Amino acid sequence: MGAAGTQAIPASETHVDVVIVGAGISGIGSAYHLQDQCPEKSYAILEMKDTFGGTWETHKYPGVRSDSDLYTFGYRFKPWVGAPIASAEEILKYMNEVIEENGIAQHINYGHRIVNCAFSRESNLWTVTAVRQSDNQTVVFTCNFLWMCQGYYDHENPYVPEWPGMDQYKGQFVHAQLWDPNIDYTGKKVLVIGSGATAATVIPAFAEKAEHVTMLQRSPTYFFCSENKNELADRLREIGIDEPTIHRVVRAQIMYDQDMMTRRCQEEPDAVFEELKMLVRMYAGEDFQFEPHFTPKYRVWQQRLAFCPEGDIFRAAVEGKLTPVTDTLETFTEKGVRTSSGEEIEADIIVAATGFNLSVMGNIPFEVDGEAVDWSKTVNYRGMMFTGVPNLLWVMGYFRASWTLRVDMLGDFVCNLLNHMDAKGVQRVEVALRKEDADMELLPWIESDNFNPSYLMRGLDQMPRRGSKPEWRHNQDYWRERDEIPNINLDSEEFIYDGKQASAANAA
Ligand SMILES: Cc1cc2nc3c(=O)[nH]c(=O)nc-3n(C[C@H](O)[C@H](O)[C@H](O)COP(=O)(O)OP(=O)(O)OC[C@H]3O[C@@H](n4cnc5c(N)ncnc54)[C@H](O)[C@@H]3O)c2cc1C
Repeated sequence: MGAAGTQAIPASETHVDVVIVGAGISGIGSAYHLQDQCPEKSYAILEMKDTFGGTWETHKYPGVRSDSDLYTFGYRFKPWVGAPIASAEEILKYMNEVIEENGIAQHINYGHRIVNCAFSRESNLWTVTAVRQSDNQTVVFTCNFLWMCQGYYDHENPYVPEWPGMDQYKGQFVHAQLWDPNIDYTGKKVLVIGSGATAATVIPAFAEKAEHVTMLQRSPTYFFCSENKNELADRLREIGIDEPTIHRVVRAQIMYDQDMMTRRCQEEPDAVFEELKMLVRMYAGEDFQFEPHFTPKYRVWQQRLAFCPEGDIFRAAVEGKLTPVTDTLETFTEKGVRTSSGEEIEADIIVAATGFNLSVMGNIPFEVDGEAVDWSKTVNYRGMMFTGVPNLLWVMGYFRASWTLRVDMLGDFVCNLLNHMDAKGVQRVEVALRKEDADMELLPWIESDNFNPSYLMRGLDQMPRRGSKPEWRHNQDYWRERDEIPNINLDSEEFIYDGKQASAANAA
């Protein structure tokens, strides 16, 4: 290949106003907002895969589905008309409709892997170098603004801990992220390592056809059991309310309920856990034993709650199709694994549901004025812009609320910003710490006691810094940002246009 950062003569060079990186749910939503709110802007989406969907295309394990409801995981501009929890296939269908209904397809360049992004303050342009996978040619795009929608994890290299003895194992080992739908697990003994959202999805699906499933977890997870339906949506449909109104009202209802839930998790975590247990008992019976496999060590909501439609994982346990084991994996063996307490678990197939490798900005090398960008030396502005890196925004969604809520919100923000720059006649925007921030303590991206998914903790030192003031952190709080972000004063001191502070640029 040898394409990354090389001096190869580009096969073609295209200029657009905006390059959107990635055709996942963020990239497609951002394209919609750009077309809608900045119709004069030209743009291209560069996507390394040969199709859209991102996360929903990468993951192909049995049962793959959302654990957010689609009324809020769907975009605000496109009503969701199905059951709240959706399969990957349904999400892809929904995204495809958005692409088709809005003429987005013609802007997407599939099979374009971005290998370098360089900004020059002299030309105020990004030079985005990609390798076109069809012919391995280097292709160059220039743009004024780079809208990063590349997600947060490495789609090709999932996180597999280095366990001893893996080479001895004679069965089939696969990470859930790399699951091939052709693998036949009918009548087989399956071991799933892990207990997060992926394990919660895959285990009930395996349990339907496998001889038996074992779940080996280091520590338990919280589950939220419920029917996969929204009564308000069903009722509104029954009485003939139109779908756009249902979408708006049900979104509002869900966001209100989630806000209450988040507050309660912080204020009365024990009471919330008791309620979660009550929901489990509805499906698994009054005698269901929560100790030791279903009593987590962390505070409820410090990690995403795993959704469990109709209590499926608990029903599998009660019916004897699933055996949970809470222990650490000591070594792989020829027939399976041995745990630290000496238990031997035999399996024909071992599925690692062990999570992701964080990928900061798609692992793309970035430069500004010829100098490599070290993201860990930048300070983030509300988790979307970064000091020292002009004309760029990253869509990093929410983990507690649906990711896509932030796609819509930042879509409005970017379009306002671009329109504001046009109105001012400026070419470059960057964020910078203000005088009042001079002594501000710089901290890791996120407070580990607030929210601590393992992939983020493993990669925290690569992430941009956080300041102690609200402007300089991604607070992961949709409800607060819903009021704050639309009201950001784009002429406040932290915005620098064409090298001058907003007020000075205004006067010029
Ligand atoms: C199995 C699973 C289930 C999830 N369920 C939920 C849920 O229910 N609710 C929720 O809120 N969140 C959920 N998440 C989090 C989820 O990742 C986000 O909600 C969302 O789908 C991310 O969308 P995205 O478009 O930002 O990123 P991604 O889906 O990661 O898409 C990024 C795209 O950018 C492309 N790309 C990356 N690097 C490059 C490059 N160098 N050049 C060109 N293209 C590039 C990738 O190929 C990919 O298509 C889930 C995550 C997983 C893994």
